[in-house]
Amino acid sequence: MASARRLPCGKVPWELVASKVCGALPPEVLRGPACGEDAALVRMGDELWAVASDPITFTARDAGRLVVLVNANDVAASGARPRFFTAVVLVGPEAAEPARIAGVLAEIRTTCARLGVTLIGGHTEVTPGLPRGILVGTMLGRVVDRPLATGGLREGDRIGITKFAGLEGTSILLGEFGERAARACSADALAAAARILHGDWLSIVPEAEIAWSEGAVTALHDVTEGGVGEALHEMAAASGRELSVRAEAIPVLEATRALGEALGMDPLGLIGSGALLVGCAPAGADRLEAAYRAAGIPFTWIGRAGAAQAVPSTGVARFARDEVLKAWLLDGIDAVLFDMDGTLVDSKYDWPAIREALEIQGHSILDELDAMPSPRREEKWALLERFEREASLKARLKDGAKELVAVVRARGLKTALVTNNSGGSVALILERYGLQFDALVTRDSGLYKPSGAPLVEALRQLGVAPERSLFVGDYLFDVVAARAAGCARVGILYDPEGRFSRDADFTFPDVNALRRHLEFVL
Ligand SMILES: [Mg+2]
Repeated sequence: MASARRLPCGKVPWELVASKVCGALPPEVLRGPACGEDAALVRMGDELWAVASDPITFTARDAGRLVVLVNANDVAASGARPRFFTAVVLVGPEAAEPARIAGVLAEIRTTCARLGVTLIGGHTEVTPGLPRGILVGTMLGRVVDRPLATGGLREGDRIGITKFAGLEGTSILLGEFGERAARACSADALAAAARILHGDWLSIVPEAEIAWSEGAVTALHDVTEGGVGEALHEMAAASGRELSVRAEAIPVLEATRALGEALGMDPLGLIGSGALLVGCAPAGADRLEAAYRAAGIPFTWIGRAGAAQAVPSTGVARFARDEVLKAWLLDGIDAVLFDMDGTLVDSKYDWPAIREALEIQGHSILDELDAMPSPRREEKWALLERFEREASLKARLKDGAKELVAVVRARGLKTALVTNNSGGSVALILERYGLQFDALVTRDSGLYKPSGAPLVEALRQLGVAPERSLFVGDYLFDVVAARAAGCARVGILYDPEGRFSRDADFTFPDVNALRRHLEFVL
């Protein structure tokens, strides 16, 4: 039966973490576990020290350098100069070549040296069951002037950002997709990206140092997973204020924009180390801007902090799951299963009117019809089928849907249609639009979502294991059914308000965005 609910990839929801890690702290701890704060603050003697830990999860290239830089960033965003570093290096058995391990350790050491940081310890081992290696670093830094926080914004403060949104994601995508990624961008766009993405572009220590020395700076937060969108939300939440940020004012490199368009990734939700969000009192704004200009660090004002507010808002979309995770959507996938209505087909159902006519009280129409006594059950089933037939006659294929299914099949993946609609209505639509699938499971099978059974049946017909399948739908039942069936991943389309996407593994705005993505990665 259905396995226990598992969390999708990405950060674990803060509420779950908070319930276990937050509690009373001794007086020398000025800042303990907190949502969106970059580092803990501990008083030692008459000095204040910042401590931060972060893993490198997404990429193995330059991992030794990255693990030092991201931890230095967290400490610097708290107003502290990075000083001491420890590293835990866990290497999968397949990657356990002595030269490779030595290379990573050398990279950690030289990066530390460049930042004036001393490597003071750690742990290195070969660990079974790890497909990619993981590096976890811990950085200690001494607060230089005053501690700065994600949550330091006051009403009227201006909010600015250094460099560009989605820089780290852009670097990862250029590395992951090589030539294909380069072809998606113009030569000028690639050259502009190369001018930024060289040396220690990922470090925000230089821009944080400038911020410490400006007394008007009130808040700092370095952008990481979930991109600028999520980082702004964390600032709003930690400050307990509404922010008014203009999404179109956030600077994005042309290469990032082009890759985002090709892959259906929003640059504002793309992993973004290398950019620092800065809150600044209006009186000191000109001075800060001039200091960044003098240092040659790109800096842009993007909005203002508003009034205190219990439910934080920013004016920019949130990204609970980083957009870059979409790059590995099809890793290990042999079959793509589709829902029909609302996903591939635009059908107009007046569900409130239909529910009233069928006298349905609960959530699942089909379950409730099944439970009715005869002959009422047969009457109501016939009525539902009449509504469905009328809707199917007027149904239109979503723009790009036929091409989407075709590209999946052409690239060698199996396809199935799994719908709660009746066999008759489905046949009507498939014939009219010439849609083809390798397997078809309709309500006539006696199986329907939110049970996982119709998906299991489709996978049986395809001869594909659930953990090698991906299900694409548009509704809560699709997510629930895919989880129950044990599908590797589930994606949601056409959910602009994010009502059903919370528990999905990825979201695309529409069929064409998913089609462009598949054409790019397959
Ligand atoms: Mg649907």
